[in-house]
Amino acid sequence: MLNVDFPEQPKFDTLPEMNHVEGAAAFLSIQEGCDKFCHFCVVPYTRGSEYSRPVKDVLKDARRLIELGVKEITLLGQNVNAYHGESPDAASKEWSLGRLIQEIAEFDAFEIIRYITSHPRDVTQDLIDAHRDVKKLAPYLHLPVQSGSNRILKAMNRKHDRDFYFKLIDQFREARPDIAFSSDFIVGFPGEDDRDHADTLDLIRRVHYAQAYSFKYSRRPGTPASASEFQVDEGVKGERLAELQALLDEQKMAFNQKCVGQEMGVLFERKARHEG
Ligand code: SF4
Repeated sequence: MLNVDFPEQPKFDTLPEMNHVEGAAAFLSIQEGCDKFCHFCVVPYTRGSEYSRPVKDVLKDARRLIELGVKEITLLGQNVNAYHGESPDAASKEWSLGRLIQEIAEFDAFEIIRYITSHPRDVTQDLIDAHRDVKKLAPYLHLPVQSGSNRILKAMNRKHDRDFYFKLIDQFREARPDIAFSSDFIVGFPGEDDRDHADTLDLIRRVHYAQAYSFKYSRRPGTPASASEFQVDEGVKGERLAELQALLDEQKMAFNQKCVGQEMGVLFERKARHEG
C-alpha cells in the first residue's frame, strides 16, 4: 500500500485552472480523480478519489465559455464517464455524463461536443444513447483498453475483459455507425508474454482504430506493478511496441483514406497569423 497523502478534495471556482480556452475551442473540467486503481497508474494516489462537479457549476462555466466565443467544448476528467454530478433539479439526485451532454447540447452556441477520458467499466446506456441522439456529439470516442489479453487485463486490475470491451465497441457502432475509435495501449506490462501480445494485436485488428496512443510499460514507484518480479526485457518491449505501432499506423492510414472525398464541416478555431 502506498503511503501518500491524498490531496484535498478539489475546490472548483468558476472557470478553474484546468479549463483552457483557445479561440473557438475550450476544455471544461467536470470531474477529477479516480477510484479504479489500475496497477500501473499513480492517478488515484496523486489526484485523490473521484469527484464530480455539481451540474449547476458546470453549466455556469459553459455559459461563460459561450460569452468568450467558444463553439467546441471538450468535457474533461481523468475518468470522465464516471461523472455523477449533483443534480440541479428535484427530479433526480445526480446526473450522468450522458444526461449532462444532452443538456450542454441545448446551448445553440456549441457546435461540437467531446469528452475525454473514459473507462470501459463506466460506460452507461445513456452515454451510448447520446452518441445516437446528440448530433453535436463528435463521432469519436477515446476508450482506453491498455491490453487485449484477459490475463494481462486482470493483472492490470482493469476490471473488464476483452469481450466486455468488444461488446461496448459494437454498441457504440450500432448507435453511431460513423464513430471513430481511439485507445491507449501499454506493451510489456509485467508478465506479458508472446501470446498476450498476440491477443493485443488481435484486439486491434478486430476493433479498427482511427488513432491511438501506445507506450512501453515503465515503472511508477509505489504502484503494485512496479514491484512485480516479472518485468519484461526492454528489448522485447521495444520490438512489441514497433509491431503494435505499425499495425495502428496502417489502421490510421486506412481511416484517413476513407475520409478522402467526403464532405465535412470544419471549425476554424482562431485567426491565422497572416491575413488571408
Ligand atoms: S489508468 Fe485511468 S482508470 Fe486506471 S487508475 Fe489510472 S486514471 Fe484511473
